[in-house]
Amino acid sequence: MMSCQTAGSLFATFAMGVSLAHSQVSPTSGFVSSADTRLSVHAQGGQIVLKSVASRLSPQEWSSRVPIETHLVSLATYGRKRVALAWRVHRLESSKTERVVRITFKCDSPKLVAVSEWKAALRSGPIEHSLTITNAGLAPVEIPLQKSLAWSFDRSPNQLLEAWWVEKPAGRPSPTGIHADPLGPDFSYTVLSEPYESDQRAYSEDWHDRDAVPWVSVHDRSARSGWYAGVEFSGRVSIQLKPHGPNRVDCVMGIADEPEGAKPFRTVIRPGEAYALPTVFLGTYKGTVDDGCNQMTRWVDTALRPKAIDTRYPLLTLNSWGSGMAVDSNLARSMMTDAAELGIEQFHIDAGWFRTVGDWRPNPAKFPEGIAKTSSAAHALGLRFGLWIGWTQGGIGNFSEDRQMALSVHDPLRRDWFAQNYSADWKPADFVGADLCMASADAIHWCTSMLSRAIDEYHIDMLEHDQRMIVDECIRKDHGHTTSKGDIAYRAALGYYQVYDTLRKQHPDLMFEDCVNGGRVIDFGVVKRVHYISIADSYFPLANRRAIFDMTYVVPAAMCECYVMEIPIKSLGEFKSMLRSGLMGWCSIMQDPAKWSPEERNAATREFTNYKKRIRPLIRFGNVFHVSERPDGVRWDGMQFASQDGMKSILFAFRGSTTVGEHTYRLQGLNPNRRYRVEYEDGDLPAATMSGSDILNKGIAIHLGEPDTSQLVFLTAD
Ligand SMILES: [Zn+2]
Repeated sequence: MMSCQTAGSLFATFAMGVSLAHSQVSPTSGFVSSADTRLSVHAQGGQIVLKSVASRLSPQEWSSRVPIETHLVSLATYGRKRVALAWRVHRLESSKTERVVRITFKCDSPKLVAVSEWKAALRSGPIEHSLTITNAGLAPVEIPLQKSLAWSFDRSPNQLLEAWWVEKPAGRPSPTGIHADPLGPDFSYTVLSEPYESDQRAYSEDWHDRDAVPWVSVHDRSARSGWYAGVEFSGRVSIQLKPHGPNRVDCVMGIADEPEGAKPFRTVIRPGEAYALPTVFLGTYKGTVDDGCNQMTRWVDTALRPKAIDTRYPLLTLNSWGSGMAVDSNLARSMMTDAAELGIEQFHIDAGWFRTVGDWRPNPAKFPEGIAKTSSAAHALGLRFGLWIGWTQGGIGNFSEDRQMALSVHDPLRRDWFAQNYSADWKPADFVGADLCMASADAIHWCTSMLSRAIDEYHIDMLEHDQRMIVDECIRKDHGHTTSKGDIAYRAALGYYQVYDTLRKQHPDLMFEDCVNGGRVIDFGVVKRVHYISIADSYFPLANRRAIFDMTYVVPAAMCECYVMEIPIKSLGEFKSMLRSGLMGWCSIMQDPAKWSPEERNAATREFTNYKKRIRPLIRFGNVFHVSERPDGVRWDGMQFASQDGMKSILFAFRGSTTVGEHTYRLQGLNPNRRYRVEYEDGDLPAATMSGSDILNKGIAIHLGEPDTSQLVFLTAD
C-alpha cells in the first residue's frame, strides 16, 4: 500500500520540466494546483480518491465526507481465465510547485502498470487527469470498462446549485440548446457525447435526441461560483451527475457505458500497449457561468488548441459551397478575385472538385489544369487556400491508376479497412461514401500518406474534413477493437488523431477545419487537433446565432465557425444582419459575392473591415458574454465581447421578428469606474459618453425600426 521508495528522496525523473519528489508528509497523498483550482489527491490499493476540489479564488471547496473513488478495474481475462486484479500503490510522486502529481500502481498477475497523472494548467485553468494502463506482460489482457475519473461532493439543502450542459448544434441547433437544470436531490443526468449523430437526431427539435458536448458546469447561484469539467476525447464518452442520497452528488467521467441491452464493454490491451483512457479536466471559478466559461475557453485557446501560425487567426473566409458541387476552376477564379477585393483572407474550395468520392484527384472536366494552379492563383492574390477532402470515405473509382490517391471498397487489398462490406452494385453519393474504420493500421497509413501528398501537390494551407470520421460499429475482427461500441469508437478516434497529429508535425503551417456534416464532433479531443469547427450544418442567421450562442460556452469564439448562406433579402439592414450573425467567431461566407448588388458589396466591405480591425481582436483575446436570452428569432438577442481589461467592448444587437422596436442590454466585463465612448455603427446616432457603472447597471437601449435587423455598438474607455 505504501510507496516502496524512501520518503523525501528525489527522483531522477523529470516530467514536463517539473521535478517530482515524494511528499515528506504522506507518500500516498498530494496536491495539484493551478492559479484558481487546488485538488487533493489520495491513493490506496487500486483506488484514486479525489478528496477535495477547492477554489483558490474563493473559500469554496467541493468535497465529500464519504467520497467515492476511481477504482482501477478489478477483473480481467488473461490466458482464457478470469482473474481478480490485486493492485497496489507503487509510488506517488508530486512536484513541490504542485504542478504535477503522478501515482503509479502495479499488479503482478497479470503484469499491469497503471499511472494516474494530474497536471495543472500553468496559470489560470483546470487540472487534467490522465490514466494509462500498460500491459507489461507477454499475453493480451481483456478488461471491462475503466472510467477516467469518479469523485463526489456534498451539498447542503440551502445551496442553489445548477447543472449546465450544452447540445452539439449538429445538423440544426434545437430550440433548447443550453441546459441549466436545478441540481436538486432528484437530478440525475448523463451527458453523452458520441462520435457521430444520425441525421434524424442531428435535426431533431427534441433535446432528448441530441448529442452533447462532453462538458458540465455546476454553478452555485448563492455563492456565485462553481466548477466545470470536460472530456478530451472524440469517441463515445460521458459525464454522469447522479445523486447519492439527499446530500451527495457523484460525478463519473470517461468512456460511456454501452447502450442499454448491449453486452458490457470490454477492450483488449495487447502486450506492451499503453491503454490511455480519455483525459478529463476539472476546474473551479468565481463569478457567473460566463466567467467560468471565459476562464476555461482561454485555457483551451492557449493550452489545448493547435497553435495558429497565421497571426490573423480567425481568418475571414470565402467558401465555394454556396454553389454546391458546381464548383470549377472558372468559378473559383472569379470568387477568389472577389474575395481579394472584399478583403477576405482565405478561399476555400468545398466538395465538388474531385473525381468521385474516394478518388482524391482533381476532376479534369472541372479543373483541367489541376488544383495546384488554382491554389497558386489564390496565393498570388494574397489568399490562403483551403480544400475539402472527405478522407475517411471510400468509393468505387478506378483504384488501379493511382492507388495512393484512390480508395475503393472493391479493392481486394483494402476492402477490409471499411467498417462493413459493400455489395457489387453499391454506389456512393456525390460527397458521401463508405466509412473507413480508422482503427485499421493500414487505413491510418494510407490516409496519412494520401493527405500528405495532396497537401504538398495541391499547395493546401487549410484542410477540411467531412462526413463520419469515427465509427462506433465495425464488423472486422483484425482492427484491434472488440465488438463494444465504446471500444470501436475509442480505437477509431485514436486512428483519426494519429493521422492529424502526424500531418501537423509534417506541415506545421497547415490549418485544420473540423466539419463532420457540421457540428457533430465537438469535444475537447478534436479541439486538440483542429483550428476551427463548423459548429452547425444550418447556415441561416438564426441557426448561426443559436449555434454561436451555445458553443461559446465551451469553445473559444475564434474556433466557432459559422457558414453564412444566401437567403432572400428584403433590405440592406437584413443583409448586414445576415453577415453579422456569422461574424461573431470564425466567419466563412458561403455565397458568390458576384451576386451582391453594389450597395451590398459596399456594406460587406465595411463589415469585413470592422471585423478585422475592431471585432476580431476581441473575439480572439477577449471575454464573451451572453447578454440576452438564447436567440429564438422573435425576441431581441445579443452577444457581447470585451477585452480582458474591460477597456474595449462590442455589442452585437439583433432584433428578431418582434414588433417591439427597442431593447435594453445590460452589459458585463466593463470597468464601473471608467467612462466609455459609445459608437453606433448603423444610423446617424452621434457617439455618446456613458459611465461604466450605468452601462453595467442600467444598460444600453438600442432602437431598430425594422424587424430582422441589427446594430453594432463599439465601446471604448476614455
Ligand atoms: Zn474496425
